[in-house]
Amino acid sequence: MDNVDTGSLESNEFAAFTNLFNEWYPKSTSKKVKEVKKAKGFAGEHLGAPPYGYSRNPDDKTRWLVDEEAATVVRRIFSLCMQGKGVSAIATALWEDKVLTPSAYKMSKGIGVAKKSGHPYNWEPATIASILENVAYIGVTESFKSTRLGFKSKKRIPTAKDRRTYIEDAHALIIDRDMWEKVQMIRENKRRPTKSGVTSIFSGLLYCSDCGAKLSLATANGYEHFRCSMYKRTSRAKECTQHYIREDALKQLVLKQLQHFLSYLQQFEHVFIQQQIDATLAERRYELSAKQKQIEKDEKRIKELDRLFRKIYEDNVNGKLNDERFYKLSDGYEAEQEQLKQEIEALTAEVSKADTEATNVAKLIAVTKKYTHIDELTPEILNAFVDKIVVHEREKKDGKRTQQIDIYYSYVGIVDIPTDEEMREMEREYMQRTKRQTA
Ligand SMILES: [Zn+2]
Repeated sequence: MDNVDTGSLESNEFAAFTNLFNEWYPKSTSKKVKEVKKAKGFAGEHLGAPPYGYSRNPDDKTRWLVDEEAATVVRRIFSLCMQGKGVSAIATALWEDKVLTPSAYKMSKGIGVAKKSGHPYNWEPATIASILENVAYIGVTESFKSTRLGFKSKKRIPTAKDRRTYIEDAHALIIDRDMWEKVQMIRENKRRPTKSGVTSIFSGLLYCSDCGAKLSLATANGYEHFRCSMYKRTSRAKECTQHYIREDALKQLVLKQLQHFLSYLQQFEHVFIQQQIDATLAERRYELSAKQKQIEKDEKRIKELDRLFRKIYEDNVNGKLNDERFYKLSDGYEAEQEQLKQEIEALTAEVSKADTEATNVAKLIAVTKKYTHIDELTPEILNAFVDKIVVHEREKKDGKRTQQIDIYYSYVGIVDIPTDEEMREMEREYMQRTKRQTA
């Protein structure tokens, strides 16, 4: 099992030691309960009820099994989204086919549901959305969604997203990871039609280079075009400029750049990989090694605190240290340890992010392998290759109008693509080198 959480650097020594305190140190007891729950989460045992598509294993209630009947519906929802259907359209499709909603389905299986649901086929768009966003379907468990305020408090507060724990391969998956990720991307770039009902394949993908706002779609004189939404909102105060671009012109520009990018990758894949690695990893090697060192330092200090804690405990038992002083010191140590653990968690995440970057290059290459050439810009191609496009203001250079657009490619961002001339030069060099080697 691949445990993605990296904050579990608990000292066993410390845990064993905490056991000693259980009877007379209630604060610790509550911590211990928390730790047991945490350990369960880490081991991929499920603490909560399974989502639609899974059922509890009757032999082991902490494990989930795929419920094929519901899983089929989940798969259908994902594939409808991939086909470009929005949540409302998916809800309608399920209604037309008389597919039971998750709560109606539960009731039909004799599993009690608290609130009486309305119509058994009346899928809420919000339900569809929550299914499309659920990490459970790729085998990941999200633990510690909420945390108790204190050991005596029953009140639970939601944990911040970045403090939650994700365990991979916690149970069988229903949706494969590539499809799931693509669906997240499609949903992030939701295409909302304009008031007149017009949509564009670029909707949600375009950003203003100057203020960072999204560009919004409008129609004038029969042409679909985009403008900075900040400019539009502040038409009197004019907090930004138009950044006007016609959709057909943009299509031409993006198509040309994608074709150029694809031919670059097809001819010089090795150069591209080298270029990306140089840009992301090599420059950051120094920074990363400093972070690694800090992690080691923090871990050392945590051990040191364990030792100090044991020492004051012994001193307290031997009467060398009064209770008041003992509590004060131990609280201080505990707080420092907690802070260190958080720091380690954050640093480890940054270090592992660098690994992810190398994987990202491979992911983009895998996407390009699916296409030998691009003749036309489709939503699928845009979704597969592009994360976002930044549009600059039009400029007049030597009497000619130009407009820069920056394409942020999936997984890697801006790619510095050589011009045709530079590529020919690279080709010549490459040929000469291989000639020399064979001679
Ligand atoms: Zn702007």
